[in-house]
Amino acid sequence: MKTIFQKIIDGEIPSDKVFENEQIIAIKDINPQAPIHLLIIAKKPIPSLAAITPEDGPLMAEMMQVAGDLARKFKIENGFRLLTNNGTTAGQTIFHLHFH
Ligand code: 5GP
Repeated sequence: MKTIFQKIIDGEIPSDKVFENEQIIAIKDINPQAPIHLLIIAKKPIPSLAAITPEDGPLMAEMMQVAGDLARKFKIENGFRLLTNNGTTAGQTIFHLHFH
């Protein structure tokens, strides 16, 4: 079964998109916990950070770079947090790798 994020990637449900390339999509969180709350989502269906492999290294680096670019775009480059919840006990609800 597709995750919500897979449906967003596939264009089956709408989202407020702020960035997209071949590997990554970034959207506004539907339930923001901060004045600016974005989700940087890998298009590759990796369930969580603990599941990445060495071949995902370039993708991880690109996600970090997108985070910095979006921080500058939204003018919060001097103060932002970047996090991922890994596993239900950490609060992960959507099992498709993303950074808040
Ligand atoms: P997690 O709990 O897995 O770390 O983060 C999932 C995030 O996705 C939550 O912050 C939640 O608000 C957000 N979210 C859940 N469903 C949707 C949706 O349909 N659209 C958007 N834009 N965000 C969603």
